[in-house]
Amino acid sequence: MTILPQQTLSASVPVSEHDLGWRAVCERDQSFDGQFVYGVTTTRIYCRPSCPARRPLIKNIRFFTEGSEARAAGFRPCRRCEPDCVKSTDGALARAVRICGRLKDEESMPTLTQLANAEGISPAYLQRQFRRVVGVSPAEYARQLRADRLRDQLAKGSSITEAIFNAGYGAGSRFYAEAYALLGMTPRQYQAQGETMKIYFALAESSLGQVLVAQTAKGVCAILLGDDPEELLQDLQRRFTRAELIGGDAGFEQTVAQIIGLIESPNKRHKLPLDMQGTAFQRKVWQALGRTVPGQTLTYSELAKAINQPGAARAVASACAANPLAVAVPCHRVVRSDGGLSGYRWGVERKRELLQRESNAADSARR
Ligand SMILES: [Zn+2]
Repeated sequence: MTILPQQTLSASVPVSEHDLGWRAVCERDQSFDGQFVYGVTTTRIYCRPSCPARRPLIKNIRFFTEGSEARAAGFRPCRRCEPDCVKSTDGALARAVRICGRLKDEESMPTLTQLANAEGISPAYLQRQFRRVVGVSPAEYARQLRADRLRDQLAKGSSITEAIFNAGYGAGSRFYAEAYALLGMTPRQYQAQGETMKIYFALAESSLGQVLVAQTAKGVCAILLGDDPEELLQDLQRRFTRAELIGGDAGFEQTVAQIIGLIESPNKRHKLPLDMQGTAFQRKVWQALGRTVPGQTLTYSELAKAINQPGAARAVASACAANPLAVAVPCHRVVRSDGGLSGYRWGVERKRELLQRESNAADSARR
């Protein structure tokens, strides 16, 4: 039932009033009360978004801006939630839809201040409100829009210059930085499906068994743990099918040593440059994991809330499972809601040990 919000709010862009309204209904989000009502076609009753009654099927829902509209269409107010007894609040939903529309239409990205001025509110308030409704900031939303357009263009086989232009990007250099962040590689590499990407790797032994470390020119792109070096190498090949894999040189050793140290003391903050290759949504989850506290665990739902996408716990769990950067992106801190360890890509025993090391460090720090 709550699958739709995930689709709406992850990296995919289209946000319609209907999607947002449905998300509000699914989550019984009180902050939407007064902003719209929904009518259920099978019962001819209309409710406020947070109505405690059983949620109807999405196909039986009609959205109305206000109660009078619903009544005019032959619906009557629900006695349980009294949808007409709530005052219109901040108009966040209508505003978010308006701004999404504007960002879709405009070639150049308006600044937050420009958007806020047009709405007659402060930039900080707009940022907060938009984030609450859509799940990401207006700037992030616009970036994802452009990245989608860019992927489209590149997939259609447009030249890179053409694709950049058609996706609504301006000057080249800023675009490249942004495109890299969005695509996880440069547009040229994206077009060549990573064909030209060089990846250096090294295998080493750690207290948790074998570790494979790999890095691109941008930073560490994989830290894989296991028992069998051969299997780790195959895993790396599977993850970066068309990249050129090159055995690491002496200069790489320092990075490997740092990672071995991190496995020993997972509570320590590291300063390794990471090259997180994943979708915009996955990277968002991985970045949030980087902000978690050593020695403390959290659940998938808590992590979903931390990225302002409370409905996306399942998508968050998949992003954790896809994490290619063991320990450096501490997905081992995420546990089941009953406290159980649940799975770990690199073996639940390793997860238990990492958590144990963190909690020991936290204990001795307290002493
Ligand atoms: Zn109701």
